Amino acid sequence: MIVTRFAPSPTGYLHIGGLRTALYNYLYARANNGKFLLRIEDTDLKRNKIEATNAIIEAFKWCKLDYDGELVYQSDRFDIYKKYIQKLLDEGKAYKCYMTKDELDELRKSQEAMKIRPKYDGRYRDFKGTPPAGIDPVIRIKAPISGTIEFKDGVKGEVKFNVDDMLDDFIIARSDGSPTYNFTVVIDDALMGVTDVIRGDDHLSNTPKQIILYEALGFKTPNFYHVAMINGPDGQKLSKRHGATDVMEYKKMGYLSEALLNFLVRLGWSHGDDEIFSMKELKELFDPHNLSKSSSSFNQSKLEWLNQHYIKNASFERLSHELKEFDLNLDEVKHAKLLIDSIKERSVTLLQMKEMANSILNKPQSYNEKAYKKFINENSLKLLASFAEILDKDMSALEYEELTNKFLEKNEAKLKDLAQPLRIAITGNSVSPSIFEVLEILGSDEVKQRIKNLINKSKEI
Ligand code: GLU
Repeated sequence: MIVTRFAPSPTGYLHIGGLRTALYNYLYARANNGKFLLRIEDTDLKRNKIEATNAIIEAFKWCKLDYDGELVYQSDRFDIYKKYIQKLLDEGKAYKCYMTKDELDELRKSQEAMKIRPKYDGRYRDFKGTPPAGIDPVIRIKAPISGTIEFKDGVKGEVKFNVDDMLDDFIIARSDGSPTYNFTVVIDDALMGVTDVIRGDDHLSNTPKQIILYEALGFKTPNFYHVAMINGPDGQKLSKRHGATDVMEYKKMGYLSEALLNFLVRLGWSHGDDEIFSMKELKELFDPHNLSKSSSSFNQSKLEWLNQHYIKNASFERLSHELKEFDLNLDEVKHAKLLIDSIKERSVTLLQMKEMANSILNKPQSYNEKAYKKFINENSLKLLASFAEILDKDMSALEYEELTNKFLEKNEAKLKDLAQPLRIAITGNSVSPSIFEVLEILGSDEVKQRIKNLINKSKEI
């Protein structure tokens, strides 16, 4: 069975890159009837924030990413880590190192002077003497001294690390006894039965260390997939301006979670040339072996395009529910469905939908200056006034259209002579969805009132 996990450190909000990693792990498990686990890596007690854990859980809820079993907190598992550290000590696979910080600094300086890569020199590796007094030791793993660590990465292919170039007897427990990331991650992945680890390639250099630990502990090494990072549109590291922001900000900006997930899945994974994937399809199709080797760029217009697609295809119930989160309650609005149908075609985000809906539902507080200047004059005001006179009952959009056509014919006017001034009277601006739909949504009395308001306003100027 495929068992994957997402293992965030709760030191900040969940950002786009993290959500993509979570999504890939989630999909791989779901595509194989496997398990997807969530583990909070909160051993660094000083840097952890409870709000960050809550933010991760909130983002998962919003994205409807469900995990299997209980949420695991590493901070609950210190006893387990201790036990395995002791085991490695007992088996002579790890040892206590009493080197002080000053000694370590000195060693680093001399190595730098000799232009060799700074690394621990193994001076306590086979230490048998009396430990120096007053020093709390760190625990180091006995890593191989030479050779290579090799593994097959599901994305990058064969990966080879030269021990001499990058490894030393690294620390697995600090002097206060707390275990380090590379150690806890191995213990947990092994004990939780994780078979496949998909994560950002910023972790690639940790992998040989983890493999050393898997071997020392006698655990089976999982399959690794190191995914290339997401870049900004300029090819540089993702910045706050372009996506390196809290996932929940996208909710506030009016994105639907399925649009964001669809967007993220394609930043590094493909299935032919397809762009649009429902969650259901992804749960069947996703395979990490199709992850791309090269990094992908955050493309804002693609995200907008996807959001527009999902808004356009969302049901009335769904959208009216979502809009409540933006303080727009349509429960009491008479033609709410028509309203949603006519504005959803033109909206990129829920926020835009809300603004457009409000511009129809509420009387204009002011008129757009440019539009007013362009379209409101003596003639158009006269035309509006006569139009108001024939509005005597509520009708369907189609009936309003027929009525309007007859009116225009009689007055020897064209639709464009009436439509823009009417839009301004109704919404304060010259852009709105189909004017006839807007008439149906508001009804004759309300439209008449708004025309009257515009005429009164024009007298003040
Ligand atoms: N806790 C690590 C992080 O937040 C992830 C570890 C892993 O995926 O192996 O980057």
